[in-house]
Amino acid sequence: MRTIAVLLLAAGLLPAAGFRAGVGRVKITPDKPIWLSGYASRNHPSDGVLHDLWAKSLAVEDGKGARAVLVTVDLVGLPPSLSNAVAARVAKEYGLERSRLVLNCSHTHTGPVVRPNLLSMYDLDAEQGQRLVEFAKELENKLVSVIGAALGDLAPAKLSTGHGKAVIGINRRQVTPKGVIIGLNPEGPTDPDVPVLKVETADGKLKAVLFGFSCHNTTLTGEHYKLSGDYAGFAQLNLEKTHPGATAMFMQLCGADQNPNPRGTVEHAEQHGRTISQAVDSVLGGAMKPVRGNVRSSFMSIDLTFKPHTREQFVEELNSKDKFRVRRAQSMLRAYDEGRPTRKVSYPVQAIRFGKDYTLVALGGEVVVEYALRAKKEFPKENLVVAGYSNEVSSYIPSLAVMKGGGYEPDFSQIYYGYPGPFSDDLEETIFAAIHNVMARVGAK
Ligand SMILES: [Zn+2]
Repeated sequence: MRTIAVLLLAAGLLPAAGFRAGVGRVKITPDKPIWLSGYASRNHPSDGVLHDLWAKSLAVEDGKGARAVLVTVDLVGLPPSLSNAVAARVAKEYGLERSRLVLNCSHTHTGPVVRPNLLSMYDLDAEQGQRLVEFAKELENKLVSVIGAALGDLAPAKLSTGHGKAVIGINRRQVTPKGVIIGLNPEGPTDPDVPVLKVETADGKLKAVLFGFSCHNTTLTGEHYKLSGDYAGFAQLNLEKTHPGATAMFMQLCGADQNPNPRGTVEHAEQHGRTISQAVDSVLGGAMKPVRGNVRSSFMSIDLTFKPHTREQFVEELNSKDKFRVRRAQSMLRAYDEGRPTRKVSYPVQAIRFGKDYTLVALGGEVVVEYALRAKKEFPKENLVVAGYSNEVSSYIPSLAVMKGGGYEPDFSQIYYGYPGPFSDDLEETIFAAIHNVMARVGAK
């Protein structure tokens, strides 16, 4: 038997890297009208399906049995309670450590509300509220099972990596005399990188392609009520059409301050999806670098602190004409009255490294593009992918420069996320210290 294996290996018929890979997928499209997330302006539940929403999983195991599972979900974001529940269950059921699991959301704004995230943004009746409770419970079960499906599908595989480029969006932090608004800022930082991880079966068939991009998945604006994965959904559909049998998985990277441009119609979403899938396809069709070695992982939970606040400021905010501010004030006052004012929040920082060839830094929250640009500069030897929107989405994560500029991402979004106000100015440095910490633990320099 051994001789045959050696002969097959010599003939290039067995993968030399020793990886095994498995994939899973499960449809998560709700079967009844459901409240859509992302825009406070919506006033009724969804009214149909443009295309299905999916949770997809890729499990990779190295030659020594060390594993990682990456899950991509066509949703706006996962609340920590839900991702923690999934992580605890897969640790128990499949023995998968927390550090070896990444749950990334595409941040589509035409997917259901995932409670309890952003609940203060919506006026729900009892029936819609109950539907969201059921959706979240079902989602938890589906995420656990799709992780199990990928682990159950492990088979010899070859991994390779490459990068494409695309422009579908624009920095949205427009400076005006009245402050920074959500608009168009052609001068602002962007990242055209389209990182691609290709997974082939032992006999060279495309099994999965994991790709990412840094841009809000908001081509479809608040007047759209059909469920869909927006441009990221179209990009995945295109790739699965061109490569029958392959699983295409989209990761949202650091697109918090980027919007698609133009936006507003289904045609725009199709167009941006095509731009991304074409960029991925040209990487797949070109020379790609093999990924070899062991799968190492590290995960830590750090504290992010808010700027100081007082009870009085929320008593005052109760008089606001803005119902979202009133709701935030009420919840902050409740916290004060219970003797636990909100001073900090926990935040997940994770790294998964495949040999020296592919490194994923997974960050929670809506991370602005400067984090990706800075991390790539600070780790020039790594083939680095920085994915925000990972494991949980509980707030925006602005850079110091964005915090200084003010506006929606550092300030007003905190009202909808139910936080007392902006983070303290050491936010970016605190997160980068943690990034350096997890990177050191996986052997990256
Ligand atoms: Zn967002």
